[in-house]
Amino acid sequence: MMTEMVSRADASLQNLFGLQDIAQTIYLFGSDEQKDYYLPRFASGELDGAMALTEPEAGSDLQSVQLTARFDEAGGKWLLNGKKHFITNGCAKVLLVLARSEEGSKDGRGLSLFLAEKSPQIVVQRLEDKLGIHGSPTCELQFNDAAAELIGQRRRGLTRYVMSLMNGARLAIGSQAVGIAEAARRCAWDYTRKRSQFGKPLCEIPAVWEMLSRMDALTAAGRTLLYETSACVDKRNALAQLNEGDGGNDDTRNAEKTYARLADLLTPLTKFFTTEMANQVTYDAIQCHGGKGYMREHNVERYYRDARITNIYEGTTQLQIVAAIGGVMKQLLAPIMDELAALPYADALRPLAARVAEARRLSQECLTMLNADDCGKFDLLARRMVRMESLIFVSLLLLRDAHRDPARCELAERFIWEFLPEVAMQATVVKTALS
Ligand SMILES: Cc1cc2nc3c(=O)[nH]c(=O)nc-3n(C[C@H](O)[C@H](O)[C@H](O)COP(=O)(O)OP(=O)(O)OC[C@H]3O[C@@H](n4cnc5c(N)ncnc54)[C@H](O)[C@@H]3O)c2cc1C
Repeated sequence: MMTEMVSRADASLQNLFGLQDIAQTIYLFGSDEQKDYYLPRFASGELDGAMALTEPEAGSDLQSVQLTARFDEAGGKWLLNGKKHFITNGCAKVLLVLARSEEGSKDGRGLSLFLAEKSPQIVVQRLEDKLGIHGSPTCELQFNDAAAELIGQRRRGLTRYVMSLMNGARLAIGSQAVGIAEAARRCAWDYTRKRSQFGKPLCEIPAVWEMLSRMDALTAAGRTLLYETSACVDKRNALAQLNEGDGGNDDTRNAEKTYARLADLLTPLTKFFTTEMANQVTYDAIQCHGGKGYMREHNVERYYRDARITNIYEGTTQLQIVAAIGGVMKQLLAPIMDELAALPYADALRPLAARVAEARRLSQECLTMLNADDCGKFDLLARRMVRMESLIFVSLLLLRDAHRDPARCELAERFIWEFLPEVAMQATVVKTALS
């Protein structure tokens, strides 16, 4: 919620604030000495952080990272050499750096995670000139024998530590997207209430009202999914803590596994849905402003530019689909969806619940066909499957929210009427492709 609020004010500031979270990686995987030395200084604000993963030849494919880490026996420390680019806040005091520590290795198993403090051996070679998030410096970094400490164990840099770091960051970008959408939505309402054309406020003109209510529904949809995912991640973390050592029992250990699997699906699903949603909402917000929306004097043009990065960094939308499709095909959300579908909905909500049931039936048909397919179309159709799953799941969450609070009925209705029909369209495409 805090991430959302900061992003609502300024998405760039959120990046710097959010990167304090690298302290969490040190907390989870660092040595006791590293924790004692760095964590209090992160907490006090003395230190700020950056996450240096991407290189010119290693973007989505982080297994290709080439920056090297060599242990210098004489000096008794690791030395980093090579280049990173697109590093947010790369000028920070502490950098977590993914580097190739195993000479001759080619894949992710040769990568380890290092902590490097700002030094003259880490040179900011260039600041990128970007479309948006202008308050967040994006740096190209050159490492020249830069001293670094190993975090955790060798070879586990990408497979364990960066995956954990990125999953937290992906959820944070989801919150950033919801925050930007919320800001844009408010701006649009504010402007269209004040400006009149054809003798009435813009917000009362049906075509404009349609955009406004669509923004309301989309933002609420993104937020409810974000909170559901955050709750799931919290439960997984709490159970992991409980199960540490001999603390848990079979039930708590099984519950931890269940929540871990759900979190692994819901995190990319949330980033996928919320960041695409923010792009749509900020687009509509400009449209509501007409020509004024195109001018720098209004904040909406900034929201539009800032939203555009959210579905690129921390793994593009396409990579979120790659991460989510396995869980979608295994129907990991089915038990939760069954529970949500079985709630005793009031009369006003029942027709909406019936629409969701029909959408589930269509998506289930696609799933069965895709599971039986041997034409190699899986990757091509993955986006449609993940999109259907997200639309259905979000519809159910909105229904549940409306069930708990009748004031939210309109949002559920708006979303289900306008966005759920896309499931039928996607299902038609999938079935046609597979038949
Ligand atoms: C402003 C900004 C800030 C950033 N901050 C950081 C940071 O702090 N730290 C950091 O380490 N990195 C950072 N990045 C890097 C960012 O995470 C990468 O840009 C992103 O992961 C994509 O990598 P790429 O740019 O190399 O694109 P590419 O990997 O070249 O991808 C190009 C296109 O191909 C698609 N694609 C690639 N592989 C696949 C696949 N297997 N399946 C489907 N589609 C695929 C992508 O979705 C994309 O559409 C930042 C980037 C920007 C622009």
